[in-house]
Amino acid sequence: MDERYAPRMQIIDPATDQVLDEVSEDTGETLTNKAARALAGQKRWAALPFAERHATLKRFRDLCLKRASQLALTLTSEVGKPVAQARNEIKGLLARLEFFLEHTAAELEPEIVQQTAELEERIAHEPLGVIANISAWNYPYFVGSNVFVPALLTGNAVLYKPSEFATLTGLAIARTLHDAGVPEDVFTPVLGGGAIGEALLDQPISGVFFTGSYNTGRQIAIRVAPRLLKTQLELGGKDPVYVANDVDVAAVAAGVADGAFYNTGQSCCAVERVYVHEEIWEAFLDGFLSAARGFVLGDPRDPKTYIGALARRRPALELLQAQTDDALGKGAKLELGGKRADRPGWFFEPTVFTNVSHEMRLMREESFGPIIGLMKVGSDEQALELMTDTDYGLTAAVYTRERARAERLLSAIPVGSAYWNCCDRVSPKLPWSGRKHSGIGATLSTYGIETFTQPKAWHLKNGL
Ligand code: NAD
Repeated sequence: MDERYAPRMQIIDPATDQVLDEVSEDTGETLTNKAARALAGQKRWAALPFAERHATLKRFRDLCLKRASQLALTLTSEVGKPVAQARNEIKGLLARLEFFLEHTAAELEPEIVQQTAELEERIAHEPLGVIANISAWNYPYFVGSNVFVPALLTGNAVLYKPSEFATLTGLAIARTLHDAGVPEDVFTPVLGGGAIGEALLDQPISGVFFTGSYNTGRQIAIRVAPRLLKTQLELGGKDPVYVANDVDVAAVAAGVADGAFYNTGQSCCAVERVYVHEEIWEAFLDGFLSAARGFVLGDPRDPKTYIGALARRRPALELLQAQTDDALGKGAKLELGGKRADRPGWFFEPTVFTNVSHEMRLMREESFGPIIGLMKVGSDEQALELMTDTDYGLTAAVYTRERARAERLLSAIPVGSAYWNCCDRVSPKLPWSGRKHSGIGATLSTYGIETFTQPKAWHLKNGL
């Protein structure tokens, strides 16, 4: 056995710093066996009539609904997500499942593009084979199901590596899929941290679908490049919001604060930078601070809690402290928070800075926590320049009464999702994708179904 792999992995409750459970990690040997079984399982699964796979995933939907409370509690216990938000995640999962259940059949339908007495030309949509789904912990139901549900419906087998910080949830997902009737060799959890993720890439897979940080995504892309593997990467962001001078300031301030702090700021599309027109600056700051002060930080199991624990002690707490110290050292003004909360567990107070600049780490690096910089701007043009000054390209938002003004600005920003008068939002009907360091490829929408298939061109000639 490769000694890099610890045989047992502790699951820690981030709200108490206590051990919740222990599970066995995969080793090189168990992983190779799982991959071999998945290769055989995929062929049987793909050979089933589509209606059978559809009925199985529909049962998975029904079981998620039935088990929603327990699934939400498990998620809360290991990632520190406030339980009300964990329940929202399971509810949101159902909308995704329904989208995929409704739209996959049409995507798999063969297309006859030429038909004469002598010649038929046809496009068939075949599954990729066995895919690796390497996942993040922050929304394990969302980011996981974006991959494994359409992958399974289209006839692929999935080697699913949940984040090591959401292992119990990964196991609960696997159990629910198996109870619904997905064979164990068709959906197989692979347990462990980065090393086992890396080992998974070396298995006989036909594609890798990754959700996580830019740094890990880049390492994965480099590792699989020589094999020319299909690679899809959903990565981080530094998502900006611009609030123009013509809005209902109080309502927008509350909405933007929610976009920044929901899920304790640990959303890939969380608001990470706010630019505010100088004419409404004072009123916006008041509204934003009053919303942030109202967010209840506490035990994630309490339904009143809005700010829970950070899922990871390292690097999250150190990173938030380093961004805070760097901003203060460069002249930022601390309006709220700025330190660990005084309680056991891995909590950071909701933190708001003004007087910020793009020289500060806070305005350049993904923070992925309850911390935000607000910056005053004099014009739409200045806002546009600052919004595009980033390595990332996940989402951007503009708040204004004028739709044309928002569309003009958003068209000029290289992002996968553009929001007018909303933020931190995902729709199953729209493609979810990033530009630049935010990733390649798309999940959700019909793009996110097609991506798990490959076309075969049939040239069928009569008459010999
Ligand atoms: P991460 O990159 O640390 O880990 C993600 C997964 O990769 C984990 O399962 C981890 O074990 C695995 N991994 C780590 N090193 C690996 C390696 N060398 N080879 C293969 N696998 C490896 O990210 P995280 O902390 O789990 O998630 C947070 C990040 O994910 C943030 O940057 C966030 O923005 C991003 N994210 C993006 C989206 C999106 O849709 N764009 C959604 C959710 C999260």
